[in-house]
Amino acid sequence: MPAEPTAARLERHLHGLRHGELRITRCCACGRAQFPPRSVCPGCHTAGPFVWETASGRATIWSFCVFHKAYLPPPAPQPPYTVAVVELVEGPHLVTNVVDADPTTLRVGEAVLPVFGPGGAAEVRFRPERGTR
Ligand SMILES: [Zn+2]
Repeated sequence: MPAEPTAARLERHLHGLRHGELRITRCCACGRAQFPPRSVCPGCHTAGPFVWETASGRATIWSFCVFHKAYLPPPAPQPPYTVAVVELVEGPHLVTNVVDADPTTLRVGEAVLPVFGPGGAAEVRFRPERGTR
C-alpha cells in the first residue's frame, strides 16, 4: 500500500466497521499487524508495503477505567461507563468502550468481543465474552 493521507487510510477501516468488520493492516516486511494504519511500520521501521486484513475481533482487556461523569450528552455513553484499551489477538491495541457489563465486574485480561455500531454506524465497542459460549 503506498503512503496515503491519514483520512484515506482510515476510510478502509471505517468502511469495514459499517459492514461489521474490524480491519487492520499488516506489514509485508515483518508481518506485524497494526492499527491505526501508519505509513511506517512500528515494528521494522520500513515503509511497508502493508496489506489490509479483517481481524478476528477476539481481544482481551489490556487496561480500563470507569468514568463517573458525563462529558457529552446521549447518545455518548452515560456514567458509569468504561473506557478501555483492548488488545486484539492479532496484536494491535484499540481504545474503546466495554459495554453490556457491570464495570465493577471487569478484569484486565478478560476476553471481549466486538459490538459494531447500530444501523451501520462506523463504530465498534466491545463486550465481555463470558456467558456467550
Ligand atoms: Zn514491519
